[in-house]
Amino acid sequence: MRKYNLPIFIPHLGCPHDCAFCNQRKITGVDTEITPEYIENRIETFFSTISDKDSMVEIAFFGGSFTAIPIDLQENFLKVAEKFSGKICGIRVSTRPDAINEEILTLLKKYNVTEIELGAQSSDDTVLTLNNRGHLFSHTVSASKLIKSYGIRLGLQMMVGMYGSSPEKDIKTAEDIIALKPDSTRIYPTLTLKGTVLEKFYLSGDYVPYDMETAVAVSATILSKFRENNITVLRIGLHSEEGLNSDTVIAGPYHPAFGELVENRIWRNKIENNIIKDGLKDCELVINSNPSEVSKIIGHKKCNYIYFKEKYGVTLKIGG
Ligand code: SF4
Repeated sequence: MRKYNLPIFIPHLGCPHDCAFCNQRKITGVDTEITPEYIENRIETFFSTISDKDSMVEIAFFGGSFTAIPIDLQENFLKVAEKFSGKICGIRVSTRPDAINEEILTLLKKYNVTEIELGAQSSDDTVLTLNNRGHLFSHTVSASKLIKSYGIRLGLQMMVGMYGSSPEKDIKTAEDIIALKPDSTRIYPTLTLKGTVLEKFYLSGDYVPYDMETAVAVSATILSKFRENNITVLRIGLHSEEGLNSDTVIAGPYHPAFGELVENRIWRNKIENNIIKDGLKDCELVINSNPSEVSKIIGHKKCNYIYFKEKYGVTLKIGG
C-alpha cells in the first residue's frame, strides 16, 4: 500500500494577526477563498491523479491556524475529509499553541484527526513577543500536554534565527521541545520574506539574519539532539516549491537543499571529531557506510570532501 501526503494550504485562515516573519499567502501562492467546496474539489482532484487503487492518503491542513478558525467551519472542513474516510489514513492540522482547548480537541478527536502540529517557534518569551506571535511558551507547554492527553499525536515546529534569538536560545528551544516529548518536529530557518514586518526590521538594520554557516551549524546541533531523543524530524527548511524565490525571499539562509546541508554537517562534525582525536593529517580516511549515506558524507557539491582535503589534507574514501 502506497502512502501519499495531500497538503491543503489554508493561508492565514484563523490567524488573529500576522506574525513578524510570516507571509503565507506569498509563499503558498494560494490566494483563493478557502471553503468546504474548495477543499472537496482539492481532495477529489488529488484522488483523480492517483492511479494506485490501494493507496492511502494523509491530509494535512497547513499554512494557517486550523483550530482558530470558527469552530463550525472547522467542523465543515473535517466533514469533507470524512467523506473520503475509506481512503484516508490520517489527518494532520497545524495551528497556534494558544488555540487549543478541550472543546476543540473533542471535535478533532471526533473527526479522527491524527496529529496536531503546533508552531512553537521559540521557547523564549522575549523572542515570541518581538516576533508578534501573540502567545508565550507556557501556551505551548499547556497545549502540548492537553493534546497528548487526548491521544492525538503531537508535532512541534521550531524556527532558528528569529528576530531577537541567538544560537544559544535556539538550542535551548530544542531542549525545551524535547522535554515536551513530541512525536515529530520541523526545523525552519528564519527567512526574511517580502511584505513582512521582519522585512522592515531587516531594512532598518534592527534584524541581522543568520548567515548560511550559522543556520546550518545550529540546525545540525538541533537535528542531532532530536534524533538522540528518538523524535522524528519531518522537515528541515522550506522548499522552493513552496513559492520561495529571489522575488519572495529578501534575506536569510535560503537554500533549496538546506536539509541536505544540515545532514552533511552532521557527518562533517562526526568525521572531524575523529580526525582531531586521531591527529590525522595528509592521509586517506576510509569511511565504511551504508550506500544511502554516501552522498551525505561526501556532501552537497562535495562540500565535505573539499572541506577535509583543504583543512587537514585528508582524502575521504567510502568503504563497503
Ligand atoms: S500563526 Fe502561523 S500562519 Fe498565522 S501568521 Fe503566524 S506564523 Fe503565519
